[in-house]
Amino acid sequence: MPLRFNAIQNLSTDHAKTESSGKITSLFGTNAFTHETAREFLSDEAYKSLMSSIKAGQKIDRAMANQIANGIRAWAESKGVTHFTHWFQPLTGTTAEKHDSFFTLKSDGTFIEQFEGDALIQQEPDASSFPSGGLRATFEARGYTAWDPSSPAFIMDTGPGKTLCIPTIFVSYTGESLDYKAPLLKALEALNKAAVDVCNYFDKNITRVTATLGWEQEYFVMDEGLFIARPDLVMCGRTVFGHTSAKNQQLEDHYFGSIPERVYAYMRDYEEEAYKLGIPLKTRHNEVAPAQFECAPIFEEVNLAVDHNTLLMDVMTRVATRHNLRVLLHEKPFAGINGSGKHNNWSLATDTGINLLAPGKTPKTNLMFLTFFVNTIKAVHDYADVLRASIASAQNDHRLGANEAPPAIISVFIGQYLSKVLNDVKERVSEKMDETDESLLKIDIHKSIPELLLDNTDRNRTSPFAFTGNKFEFRAVGSSANCANPMTVLNTIMAETLRQFKKDVDTLIEKGEKKEIAIMHVIREYILSGEKVLFEGNNYSEEWEKEAEKRGLPNIKTTPLALDSMVTGKAKKLFESNDIYTHSELEARHEIELEKYIKKVQIESRIMGEIATSHILPAAIRYQNMLANNIKGLKEIGLPESSYSNQKQILEQISEHINKTSDLVEKMIEARKICNNISETRSKAIAYQSQVKDAFFDDIRYHVDKLELLVDDREWYLPKYREMLFLR
Ligand code: ADP
Ligand code: MG
Repeated sequence: MPLRFNAIQNLSTDHAKTESSGKITSLFGTNAFTHETAREFLSDEAYKSLMSSIKAGQKIDRAMANQIANGIRAWAESKGVTHFTHWFQPLTGTTAEKHDSFFTLKSDGTFIEQFEGDALIQQEPDASSFPSGGLRATFEARGYTAWDPSSPAFIMDTGPGKTLCIPTIFVSYTGESLDYKAPLLKALEALNKAAVDVCNYFDKNITRVTATLGWEQEYFVMDEGLFIARPDLVMCGRTVFGHTSAKNQQLEDHYFGSIPERVYAYMRDYEEEAYKLGIPLKTRHNEVAPAQFECAPIFEEVNLAVDHNTLLMDVMTRVATRHNLRVLLHEKPFAGINGSGKHNNWSLATDTGINLLAPGKTPKTNLMFLTFFVNTIKAVHDYADVLRASIASAQNDHRLGANEAPPAIISVFIGQYLSKVLNDVKERVSEKMDETDESLLKIDIHKSIPELLLDNTDRNRTSPFAFTGNKFEFRAVGSSANCANPMTVLNTIMAETLRQFKKDVDTLIEKGEKKEIAIMHVIREYILSGEKVLFEGNNYSEEWEKEAEKRGLPNIKTTPLALDSMVTGKAKKLFESNDIYTHSELEARHEIELEKYIKKVQIESRIMGEIATSHILPAAIRYQNMLANNIKGLKEIGLPESSYSNQKQILEQISEHINKTSDLVEKMIEARKICNNISETRSKAIAYQSQVKDAFFDDIRYHVDKLELLVDDREWYLPKYREMLFLR
C-alpha cells in the first residue's frame, strides 16, 4: 500500500501515553551541573574557582580543572553516564558532539574510568568537515573546542544512553572563531563594558551589565507516517508542493485553542526533558496556523538562553519520534498559512537588579531608561542592514518580505506614548538649554510612563523590532535559526552605539556642560538622527514599503543580497573595533552563509524535480490513461461526443499541466547546470535565487498543485495538506 494510505490507516493506533512526573521543581536541573550540584560534588576550593570563573571570566588552573573534572565525572557517573562529549555549535546551524568514554587503559595494562582537567578544558575534534569559509585549509584541519564554564555541563538522555555534554566554543588552530558561541561571548563582553560605562553616569554601584534573552519558539507538529511519505519534508523540512486545503487558518480557530491530546502528550514529554536540563520553560500554546504551536521560557542571560534554545530544538526533535510525531522547525513548512519565527525578547540587566529597558520610578532612573532606550533605536537605525543580514537564510526568505510577518524592512515600534516622549525631548531640549530648564524636563519625561507601559493594548504585531514595555522584541528571527547570530549583532551594535554615546557626552562635559544636560543633548541628537527607523503603522502594507523607500531604509528581500551587509566597510569597522570578528572571519562567515544558501536552494530544486518526475507525473499519467480509455470506450460504442465532453475537458487540462510540469522541470535542470558553472560564490547564490528559485519554483508548483486537484485521489501518493495539517 502506498505510504500515504498506510499512514492514514495507522493514525489512530499511534497515540503514545505519558505519565506526569509531578512537580516541576522536583525535576528542574536534575540533568545539569547546577551551582547546587557543584556545591555538593566539588571541594570548597574548586567550587570557588568555578564560580569566579563564571562570574568574572577568570582562568581556571590545571590542578583546579582536574578537581572540577573529577567532580563532574562523579556526578555524571552517579546518573549512569559512561561517555562525555564537548558540545558545540558549528556554523552548519546544528549542534555537534563527538563522544568519548571515561574508560581509559593505563600504561601498566590496568583500566579505569577517568576524566581529566585537560579533557574538560580542551579537545581537538577533527574539524575538517565543518564549514570554515576557507579559514582553515583542510590539510591542517585543526580546530579546538574549549570549555565555556558559564554554561553548565548537562546530561543528554537519549533513551539508548546518557552522555555528559560540556558546552564549548569552537576555534581554529590560529584562533579564529568557527562557531556561533565564541563571537557571542565576545559581543556580550563588549556590551557589558560599554553599558557599565554609561550606567556609571547614573549609578556608580553598577559593575556588570548582562544582556537577557527570552525566545519564543514556534513549530509545527505532524504525524510521522505522513511526514515520511513526503520526500520534500524529509529532505528540506518544507513542502515544495501541495494544494492549500479547503480550510486552513481562515476561521482563526486554532490560535490559543485547546491543544490536541497527542500533541499535548508530546509537549509534556519534551518539557520534562527540558526541565531536567534546567531549561525554564514557562508557556505553551497553539499558534495561528493549524498544527502550529509555540513554547517560551523564562528569560535568561543571553549565552545561556542561546544554549538552551539550541538544546531544546534538539530535544524537541528527538522526543517527537517517541510519539510517532515529527516536529518541523523550518520557517515555512507549508505555503498559504503562517510560517514560524522565533521572537527574541531582549533587554539589559545590571548587577544591582535594574532592567535598563524598564522605565524607572524616579527622574534619575528614567533618564537612565531613556538613555538606553534611545541608544537602542539609534543602534538599530545605524545598523539595520547588519541586523537584517544576521537573520538572512534561504528558509527565512519565505517569511521576510514575502507577504508575511515581518517585512524585510527593519523598523522599530515604540508605541504612542513613548513616541510622544521622544517628540517632547526633541522640542523641549534646545541648543541653549540651561540648568533652569532641567527640572521641568525631567518631570515631563517620567510622569506617567510606568502606568502606560503596563497596558499591553498599545502593541503592534507587525513590527520586526518592537518595544514591549520593558524589553525589545526582535521578531524577524527565523524559527530554525541559532539565536546566537542575531544576538551577536544586536549586542555588538548596542555596544558600539553606547561607546559613541559615552564619547559624545564626555565631549560636552569637557566643554563645561553639566552631566544631565549633556546627556539630554546627546539623547536629543540621537533621536534626531535615528528617528526615521521608527514606524507605528502596519508593516505589511504597501504604503510602508513606499514610505520606507522615501526614508531611505533598506528593504532587501533575498538572502544573497542581504548578506552583502556583513562585509561592507561599515560592518568590518564595527566588528573589528569591538573585537568580535576580524575581516577574514567576517569574509569567511559571509562565504559560509552564501554556500548554505546555495545548497539549500539546490537541494530543494532537486527534490522538486525528483518528486515531479517520479511521483506527480506517473500519478497524472495513470489518470490520464484512465480518462483516455474511458473516452475511447464511449466513442467506440457509438455514444455522441456530448457524453464524454467533460472527460475530454479534464483530459485536456491534465495533459496541459503534465506537459508544462515536465517542460519546466527540464528547463530548471538546465538552469541549475548553468549556475553550477559559476565559480564566484556570491554570483552563484544570486543566480540560484533568480535563475532557479524565482524562475521556476512557483511555476512548477502551480502546475503540480493543479494536478493534485484534478487527479483521482486514489492515484495520489503524496499526503495532502488537509491530512498533514489536520490529522493526528
Ligand atoms: P508576551 O510577549 O507574550 O506578552 P511576556 O511579556 O511575558 O509575553 O514575555 C515573552 C517573552 O519575553 C518570554 O520568553 C519572557 O521570558 C521574555 N522576557 C520577559 N522579560 C524579559 C527581559 N527583561 N529580557 C529578556 N526577555 C524577557
Ligand atoms: Mg511576544
